[in-house]
Amino acid sequence: MLGSLQAFSQSQSEKNKIHELEIQRQIDRTRKITVQMDSATRLTEEGHYEEADIKFRNILKSIRSVPSDFTYHFGVNSFFLGKYRQSVDWINKYIQLKGTQGQYSEQAIEWLSKGEAELMKENEMEAKKAAEVLSGDYYIDCGPTGKVVCPTCKGSAVIVKKNYFGEVYKTCPSCSKKGYLTCDEYNKLIKGKLISE
Ligand SMILES: [Zn+2]
Repeated sequence: MLGSLQAFSQSQSEKNKIHELEIQRQIDRTRKITVQMDSATRLTEEGHYEEADIKFRNILKSIRSVPSDFTYHFGVNSFFLGKYRQSVDWINKYIQLKGTQGQYSEQAIEWLSKGEAELMKENEMEAKKAAEVLSGDYYIDCGPTGKVVCPTCKGSAVIVKKNYFGEVYKTCPSCSKKGYLTCDEYNKLIKGKLISE
């Protein structure tokens, strides 16, 4: 009876020891991540955003759950990298986690609105880009002559290049000494597709 009780308390203390070790390991892990996160954050503050980004991503790879402070710092660095969608996403996480009571809540709200403003600008530009109609997308009719004065040499068939010694005359690369282009050549030239020798 006494023997089994002794065995029981022995295995109990064994279990406690394992539990303590596990806690210690967890503390070490957290400390290591905190150090890495501090160093990444410092890189952001010093303007080394790419390097900070690599550090932050390495941390993401090595952890099972993301600390709330990480979401803020990574979000800020993403903003500086011009990755506004990513920035807004992570900063939003921070605000969801911490509300208005977090250490960085006030700044987080500012970064969020900055990021959203940049995103909006990007969206507007994309919309504008999509709506633009460019002449290069069309075949231009050169009129009844079917010829156009060469835009590269303005018809002179030569171009002047300035170099270290002064001015050097060269045969025009667009019209091969003719001074004019056929309509096909002209259309190729304005699309940047005229191959000159
Ligand atoms: Zn020419």
